[in-house]
Amino acid sequence: MTNLTGHEIRLRSRPVGMPTAENFEYAKAAVADPKDGEVLVRNIWMSVDPYMRGRMVDRESYVPPFQIGQALQGGAIGQVIAAGKGATLQVGDYVSHMLGWREYAVVGPMAMPQKIDPKLAPIQSFLGALGMPGMTAYAGLFRIASFKPTDTVFVSAASGAVGSVVCQLAKAQGAYVVGSAGSDEKCQWLVKEAGIDHAINYRKEADLDSAVRKAFPKGIDVYFENVGGKHLEAALNSMRVFGRIAMCGMIEQYNNTAPAPGPWNIIMTIPKSLRIEGFVVSNHYDLLPKFYQEMGKLIAEGKMKWQESVTDGLQNAPNAFLGLFKGENFGKALVRIGPDKAV
Ligand code: NDP
Repeated sequence: MTNLTGHEIRLRSRPVGMPTAENFEYAKAAVADPKDGEVLVRNIWMSVDPYMRGRMVDRESYVPPFQIGQALQGGAIGQVIAAGKGATLQVGDYVSHMLGWREYAVVGPMAMPQKIDPKLAPIQSFLGALGMPGMTAYAGLFRIASFKPTDTVFVSAASGAVGSVVCQLAKAQGAYVVGSAGSDEKCQWLVKEAGIDHAINYRKEADLDSAVRKAFPKGIDVYFENVGGKHLEAALNSMRVFGRIAMCGMIEQYNNTAPAPGPWNIIMTIPKSLRIEGFVVSNHYDLLPKFYQEMGKLIAEGKMKWQESVTDGLQNAPNAFLGLFKGENFGKALVRIGPDKAV
């Protein structure tokens, strides 16, 4: 019997428009003992991700909605502190799983546990560049956008968890890469550290379309879409014939309360013979071994860098989440729940 209590963040109410702190509740909860095949994990890191906004809406989607009064869920990294009979993970193991937003998690197969090796990389990177966002970048660029080294590549939200990996994967193969981001600091990092050719601070551009045209005198072959709205319109205008657009996310729309007008120039898809394809990363995990191989090589060669925005304390996780929609995070947004060594 563990007799533990821990804290968790629950959904207090469904947000309308931009979420606020009032939509969340920081609450105490009894911690159950692990049953056969389960393990009890003390969470160390958790991820906040833009897609979680979609799960706050009561509608059918590729993942079920969060329920009011219940703890939220999401990617987390922790250490096993107790194991039920027959569990494959052992006390002391580090594990990534899907029961974030809480201090302690009883993890069974539904939480998709994956043992991670803390000697390979800092454990929190398995929530970022080496985790779901990195995989999203890899699948989106290589499989969905059919990227070739001779392509010119435009990436929106380019300094973020997904975008920064896309930029460097494409750059490592010699492509011409331009990213857009919401501050000079982010743009400088993209050029100086991530090594891309040019970065556009979209907040400073009265005319994003002209800025994108100027950055791509010969046009765009691949647009990696993370934002939507004016970014998509500007990309459509500059796409080259047979260009590909990987529709990864449209964060600009996630808090809309009314339908957003479609891009006025979607008609460009016809004369330019464009292919626009949406994707969800969970359908592409067959690429995981190749992804690890490529990332391992790039990290060893110093060609893959990333930033982390760390918020301390589970009680502050809602603020870290809200910050995603204001561009407050620079790189992967993480919440540190407890010390790295849990046992
Ligand atoms: P980021 O780390 O990029 O964080 C979000 C960033 O988006 C912010 O920092 C901000 O950066 C930018 N942003 C926020 N609001 C706006 C806005 N209104 N207009 C323009 N930019 C905005 O997040 P992720 O890398 O985790 O996710 C990036 C995208 O990928 C999201 O759209 C997400 O939903 C999507 N995604 C899709 C997946 C899939 O399977 N299809 C899986 C994972 C993520 P800035 O300062 O530059 O504005």
